[in-house]
Amino acid sequence: MFEVRLTTPDGSSRTEPFRGQSLTLGREASLNDVALSGGAVSSRHCKLELGPQGVVLTDVGSTNGTYLNNERVGVPSPLRPGDRVFVGSTLVELVPAATPSAVSRAPSSAELLSPSGSIVRTPGPNRKYRELHGRYLRYAEQWEYEGRPQHLALKSDELARATKWMKNAQPGMLPEVSRLQREFIATSRKVAASKRVTQILGVGAGVVALAGAITAVVLLWPESDPEPTGQDASTATQDSEGAEQENNEGGDDGIGGFAEVAPDGPGGAGDADPDSPDEIGVVDSPIDHVVIPFETLPDVARRYGVSLDDVAQWNFLNPDKPELVAETTLLIKSPKRRPLPQTRVKYTVDTGENSWSKLASRFEVPVTRLQAYNPGAKLAPGTEVVIWIDPKPYKPRLPRKPLPQFTVDRRAVSIGKPNAGKLVGGIQLPESPLYIRRTPRLMWGSSQTISNLQQAVAAFRQDVDYDGELILSDISARDGGLLKPHKSHQAGRDIDIWLPTIKGVYKKKYLNSGGEKPRRPMFEEVDWYAVWGLVRALIKTGAVQYVFLDWRYQEFVYRAAVEMGATEEELDEWIQWPRPRVSSKGIFRHSLDHLSHIHVRFLCAPWEPDCKGAVAKP
Ligand SMILES: [Zn+2]
Repeated sequence: MFEVRLTTPDGSSRTEPFRGQSLTLGREASLNDVALSGGAVSSRHCKLELGPQGVVLTDVGSTNGTYLNNERVGVPSPLRPGDRVFVGSTLVELVPAATPSAVSRAPSSAELLSPSGSIVRTPGPNRKYRELHGRYLRYAEQWEYEGRPQHLALKSDELARATKWMKNAQPGMLPEVSRLQREFIATSRKVAASKRVTQILGVGAGVVALAGAITAVVLLWPESDPEPTGQDASTATQDSEGAEQENNEGGDDGIGGFAEVAPDGPGGAGDADPDSPDEIGVVDSPIDHVVIPFETLPDVARRYGVSLDDVAQWNFLNPDKPELVAETTLLIKSPKRRPLPQTRVKYTVDTGENSWSKLASRFEVPVTRLQAYNPGAKLAPGTEVVIWIDPKPYKPRLPRKPLPQFTVDRRAVSIGKPNAGKLVGGIQLPESPLYIRRTPRLMWGSSQTISNLQQAVAAFRQDVDYDGELILSDISARDGGLLKPHKSHQAGRDIDIWLPTIKGVYKKKYLNSGGEKPRRPMFEEVDWYAVWGLVRALIKTGAVQYVFLDWRYQEFVYRAAVEMGATEEELDEWIQWPRPRVSSKGIFRHSLDHLSHIHVRFLCAPWEPDCKGAVAKP
């Protein structure tokens, strides 16, 4: 079921199977199941025992102690995957056994026969199954594409749904659950389990009984997954749209068939408990800090507003040794500040750029740093270089000039609903030095949309000293109506805007690379402070109803907003996260596949009698 992984300070590791009901660890090979070397290990040190509630760690009277997630173990303590136990300098962890692994195994017959395993049988065979198959395939592919980062793992109710979906897959069901989907869901579960561990441990050592119960749940992967309450918003929309299937072939921008929300708002049909305790508190969770080259212990302490001794203690480091090893992870247990993570971008050198000083000015990173990030690299067109960037919150551009006023006559009006509507007298978004129009012939909007959009972009450029590209994409066709592959974008009040990227990383040629697909922003390239500045300007027009963005990414917007001085009320009113992804609160709303762009929906204007939907205040 699982085994024990032992990692020594030089980074080498080995695994030991669990033999029988217990495993003893210590220095003397003759007295223990597993012999450990190194200082501070007693001849008999500790043991792991398999009990009814999972594995329990007990120190058997060692001199220097056994440490569980930085706390010395007093009483027998339950272990979960993700727990870090130190015996001397050896890291001891429980990991799933290599074979049969949770990653690749097929559902067992017992699982298929389980009473909770309601088999998916709906009209047009297994429709629900196939819908979810499409969804998890897209999520898994995005995860793979971005290099399997943790932030793209499934969370909470979506993870529960995916797990159930995978377990209920019958042999012979088509399309088959792919290996990638299995790996994605299994990894998501591990990420979720390790997050729970760190959160629960924050409570202290007095919760052994509670932690024991959770141990059993996590270690045994039981059938009793939490059921999502209520129905998912995007699924509800699809159901209401009859047999239309999602597909992956939607045009050149990869947003094919993404689930648009219902015209009356995404939350109505599918609101779970918006204050689910499972979700709240994430805001105060510990942070995993990835050390970047040259970063020292005092740098890290300063970054999170905590003391050097705290960081040292949380990570078994010597506070008198400031040097850190790049790309290792430090636990910041109780950060006082939560700046956005530093980011590691890859950049391909272009013709004419093959000098370090040109790159240094492009990214505003000193030459010496660039060279150290890329030891031995010779710059030539096509060379890929690595650059670490520490994004900073923006301040207003000074001196502040008065904003231009955009007056648009009111003849362009939105008729009907975003996913069943049209546009009369549509206005094409004009060219501007403030943005790039990606698809001009599909960028027709109502007067309300075009004027407020321009107002917001101008305010954004002024309030936020961001000089990167801003790429605006589809609004509506000239007369509105169906605009494939979108479901909405029919009534001149939806626009897709690519997530702004960190200074320097994005090249205009990515948009139009010789008939190939445009290269969309990758997660690590997104400038969340600029995203926040842009959305704040949009919302402040008073004309925006929703901003759709994948729920997993809203955390980064939230953190950027906090750093840029958003008030509690603004956070609460504007951002759905950390409420569940089905919550009907917040202007930011979860929508499937909105990972590289936001989708902004404008309200109906007071002068549009045939516009169906919420109306802006006059
Ligand atoms: Zn859209």
